[in-house]
Amino acid sequence: MKKKIWLSSPHMGNKELGFIHDAFDANWIAPLGPNVDGFEDDLATYLSIGHVAALSSGTAALHLGLILAGVKSGDEVICQSMTFSASANPIAYQGAIPVFVDSEEETWNMDPSLLDVAIKDRIAKGRKPKAIIPVHLYGMPAQMDKILAIASEYEIPIIEDAAEALGATYKGKACGTFGTLGILSFNGNKIITTSGGGALIGNDVAYISKARFLATQARDAAPHYQHSEIGYNYRMSNICAGIGRGQIQVLDEWVERRRANYDYYMQELSALKGISFVVEPEGSFSNRWLTTVLINPETSGGITREDVRIALEGDNIESRPLWKPMHMQPVFSDAPAYTNGVSEKLFNTGLCLPSGSNLLEADLQRVVNIIQSVW
Ligand SMILES: *Cc1c(COP(=O)(O)O)cnc(C)c1O
Repeated sequence: MKKKIWLSSPHMGNKELGFIHDAFDANWIAPLGPNVDGFEDDLATYLSIGHVAALSSGTAALHLGLILAGVKSGDEVICQSMTFSASANPIAYQGAIPVFVDSEEETWNMDPSLLDVAIKDRIAKGRKPKAIIPVHLYGMPAQMDKILAIASEYEIPIIEDAAEALGATYKGKACGTFGTLGILSFNGNKIITTSGGGALIGNDVAYISKARFLATQARDAAPHYQHSEIGYNYRMSNICAGIGRGQIQVLDEWVERRRANYDYYMQELSALKGISFVVEPEGSFSNRWLTTVLINPETSGGITREDVRIALEGDNIESRPLWKPMHMQPVFSDAPAYTNGVSEKLFNTGLCLPSGSNLLEADLQRVVNIIQSVW
């Protein structure tokens, strides 16, 4: 069996263990500690954002973001349909109802004109949405200018899902820093990892302090354990944050490597008939977390996305269809959705190629050879 090539696997630099040793030496194994504070400061500096709360996952960050935005049972929250389920699940944790909005073709993210249609329609039904969750899919920035303009017109807060977009910028500003709140993920497959973790970020200190309070079981100031609100156990541990402190030092290099993967695939594969890549619009800088291709069987001579995926699998290479849109998921079949066919088409024809920052040129060459052999 040939060596497995993964879609996106963890990639350590050489500083992570040092921070973990520091934690062991000081016996800071418990949640919280100097690495957590340090990682929060490192992220705030990197992103040019006021405040960061390091948490146990990106999903937890979204959940707290929704609580801070006042989302309660029966409320509606607009969410990009083309995304991973973790963007939408926390809406359900609150007993709220997701309202899905389809994508535009340029960046594959929330279609601003459809967002406007959806908000108008929800308001006409007496159901003004409580928050909007746009996503920067695969590290490609959404059309934030237009989305922000619409959100501010209707005075609806944005909780920006930048889980896949750390290191990406839109018009020179970091993804995740446009909304009232933003979230990041450091799950094992993301561009940097803490083995598992996330962050809630924002410029309003009151929100981020409240997030830290809720994430540590909502303990009131008292010598005994006293609670006036429901709390959560959502903080990042000092060990995980130590990994994060090492990882942030290599983040820019890992972004460059992922962007180089994209360039390589683009150069080697774009001549194949029926294959196409998503191009960075002017002003956008994608971290190219995953390189994705569309395979159109009408122009590829009948070759489908599945043909390519199965051929890669046969050579022990992991690839994956694009996210299945949330409005097509059985669990969300009752949720309102504003669709235009774009995400469904992306799902039917799109494939994520191996994209780790630790791939060797020989690995990329193997992927390319298999794909070329299908043609
Ligand atoms: C990974 C991911 C999340 C969730 O992050 P976790 O840290 O895995 O909980 C949320 N949204 C998107 C778009 C993601 O890709």
